[in-house]
Parts: sequence; C-alpha cells; structure tokens
Amino acid sequence: ISAVELVDHHISTIEKLDGDINAFITTTPDQARLAAKAADEQLAKGEGGLLCGIPLGVKDLFCTDGTRTTAGSNILRHFVPPYESTVTANLLKQDAVFLGKLNLDEFAMGSTNLTSAFGSVTNPWKRAGDDKKLVPGGSSGGSAAAVASGMVLGATGTDTGGSIRQPASFCGITGVKPTYGRCSRFGTIAFASSLDQAGPMARTLEDCALMLEAMAGFDPKDSTSVDLAVPRYVDALERGVKGLKVGIPEEYRSEDLPAEIQALWEQGIAWLRDAGAETVKVSLPHTKYGLPTYYIAALAEASSNLARYDGVRFGERVPADSLDMMYEATRHAGFGEEVRRRILMGTYVLSSGYYDAYYLRAQKIRTLIQRDFLSAFEKVDVLLTPTAPSAAFAHDEKPTDPVQVYLNDVFTVPASLAGVPALSLPAGLDSKGLPLGLQLIGRYFEEETLFAAGRVME
Ligand code: GLN
Repeated sequence: ISAVELVDHHISTIEKLDGDINAFITTTPDQARLAAKAADEQLAKGEGGLLCGIPLGVKDLFCTDGTRTTAGSNILRHFVPPYESTVTANLLKQDAVFLGKLNLDEFAMGSTNLTSAFGSVTNPWKRAGDDKKLVPGGSSGGSAAAVASGMVLGATGTDTGGSIRQPASFCGITGVKPTYGRCSRFGTIAFASSLDQAGPMARTLEDCALMLEAMAGFDPKDSTSVDLAVPRYVDALERGVKGLKVGIPEEYRSEDLPAEIQALWEQGIAWLRDAGAETVKVSLPHTKYGLPTYYIAALAEASSNLARYDGVRFGERVPADSLDMMYEATRHAGFGEEVRRRILMGTYVLSSGYYDAYYLRAQKIRTLIQRDFLSAFEKVDVLLTPTAPSAAFAHDEKPTDPVQVYLNDVFTVPASLAGVPALSLPAGLDSKGLPLGLQLIGRYFEEETLFAAGRVME
C-alpha cells in the first residue's frame, strides 16, 4: 500500500466518523495529501524516514507552523503559530504525515475532554446496555479517540498528571509518558512546565516505540531537555522479563477500587510472573499526598504560565476603555470555567500570605514522593498499577464537584510529580465491555524496561 492510499483511507475515515466523535479541531487533508505524495517519492528512492507516510494526529497543544493551534481555548481560537514545536518537527523529519490537530481539555486541564471550547469528544467505545455518549478521558482525549476509532495510526499527547495515560486507558489504546526531559517542551503550549511531558499514543507498544524514537531527543531550545542518546525502543520489545523485579505498590490498593480493576491488576501480575518476572510488594508511603500536591504545584505553575494571554501579545482581544478593563474582558471571554478556577487557585497558593502554607509545602512533599520512587527502585525495576480507578463514564455522569473529577488522576499524578516514565496499556474489558488499562512505572530514562515489561501483557 502506498502512503497516498494509506493517507486517503484515513482522511475518508475522518470524514465518516468525526462528525460524531469530534476528535479533530482542525483537519489538514490537502497538506496531508501533498506530504503523502512526497513520502511515496522518498520511499521509491529508498530514503524514507522512520515514520515515512504514516498518518498521525497532533494534539492541539503543539505549535504547528502555519496551522492553527488553539489549546482547546477561545483565547487562541485564531492563533496561527509562526514556528513548529520540536516534537512535531522531529516527527516531520521522519516523514510522518499530519492529518490535523486534535481536541483536548482547554489548556490540557482536565480528564474528560468536556472543557474544550471546541466541543466535547465522544469515546468511540459504547457501554453494553445503554447508548450513552462516553468521555474519552483527558486531556489528550481527542488523540485517544482518533487512534481508537482508526482515524489516525498514532497521535501525539502531552501528560502533566495523566493526560496521556488516562485517556489511553479509557479508549483501549497504548500511551507513553516518557521521563521528564526526554522530549523537548519547545513549542508545546505550557500548562505546568515542571510536569509537562510529550509522548506517543497508538494502538500498540511497537507503534509507540517507533513514535517515541522519533519524538525524543535533546533540544538546546528547552533547558530541561536532557542530552542523552535516544535508544531504538523497538529493540527493547523482545527483551523479555526473566529476572525482572516488578513492584506492586501497597498504597495503590484501596477499598474503593472496583473489584474488576483489582482483578485485572492481579491478572497483570500473573502475566508478568508467567513470563518469568518476580513480583514483590513495595511501599510508596507518600502516595496519599499525590493529588493535593499535584493540584497545588500544577495550578501554581498554570496561573503563572497563563499570565501571558493578556490580549496584547497572543490570541484574542476584547477591546475596552482602559488597559485593565481590556485584560479583564479578554481573559473573561477567553478562558472557560475550569481554566479560570485553576488560575484563581494557582494565584491563591502563590500569594504572599499562603505561599509557605501551600506552595512551599507542596514542593517539599513533591520531593518526598520522588524519594518514595527512588527507594522503591532500589528494590524493583518497574512498578505495576491500574491506570485509572474507573472505566470511561458518560458525558452526563461527570461529577459536578471538581474535586471528584480530580480523584480520577490518583494513580497517574505520582509518577508525574517524580518525573519518572510511565505507560498505560490496554489490559482487558470490564463487564460492560469497556477497556481498562494497566500502568507500568519505571526508573528515570528506562523507558525500554517499560516496553519490555508491557510487551508480555499485550
Ligand atoms: N487530569 C489532570 C489535570 O486535570 C492531568 C491533566 C494533564 O495531564 N494535562 O490536571
């Protein structure tokens, strides 16, 4: 099959399905067809890159030169970046073909994709017994839904506290959050800079491995990107797990965890054991502080990062009589409710009277959480946990209390706070036929171990 045929097939799948799913904010079929033609020429010369002619989608948080980039927000509704993010530039260097920009929670803040200014995304999966529209998870929900429905072969995601892993779990696909610093943040619209990390989302670990190899690498334009050679991740897939030590964190086991998720976790342990791994209980004692720590640290950084949308330098402007009134009117019209809530909370925890009590304390606990992982990784090579405490829920089942929504991130935020790599892979279906994911967490820059261990559970 030629790249042109492959890309045409995916473009017509988008035309057929995306009216219902709404995974795309912007599609770029003409550009994609041209790129596919160029890819075929490369292939004919035997010169194609690692992803030559492969149709991918890009989360609309990555700046794409000349193609509108919205972050799912009204404030960037018409923003066309004059430059390309490093991650997407790296994919283009390997001759990938982009079909468009994918929907997300506004500024990547959320776990449902219900906060996008461009409408919610519908999970392509249906629950047995009812016809309710389900959420795809978030914030990379458009990416997960586009991959799960066959509109693209892979997509970029970003993960600040679970935004690659949780939607991967809800949509039955695979997603990798690499070590913080593995992929450049240059040109990725910032949410919480000390946590944001780009990664691949695709149907299989092998596809993720190929994408990550292309996306990763040192970038002098991001001072937190790390200068380490990028391995051929696909080579790790067949390594096996003989002798590998897998830790089962005690603190992730709770009374509230649905029995089906608990059972799937046991199943994952059995798969790893059958393949020759040893499983042991480990303790990550500060796990219970993960969520409050995350929702202080991330929001503080968000409030600072989003200060740049002032109606002067970027995006939309609502004219008003004075500068202050213009800021106010612009930001009120530009930001949705969840983003406003986060800016307010972030500003509060950074304010002079509360800085020590909230922000500084959160930073200290973050260090303790990181130390939990470091000491666990003295005993084991990798950790196995569920990815999320539930399967996908219906659009109208989203809790009205935002704190209830935040609870969905309980298993994903600790790895983000520590900066260690983690992936989610589809591990089975619940009794309603919905996919559930398992999470593997590894040592810094040991994504290869995650690929090897994940493979025996695929
Ligand atoms: N769901 C989490 C939040 O709302 C994580 C989001 C993300 O990783 N971008 O902040």
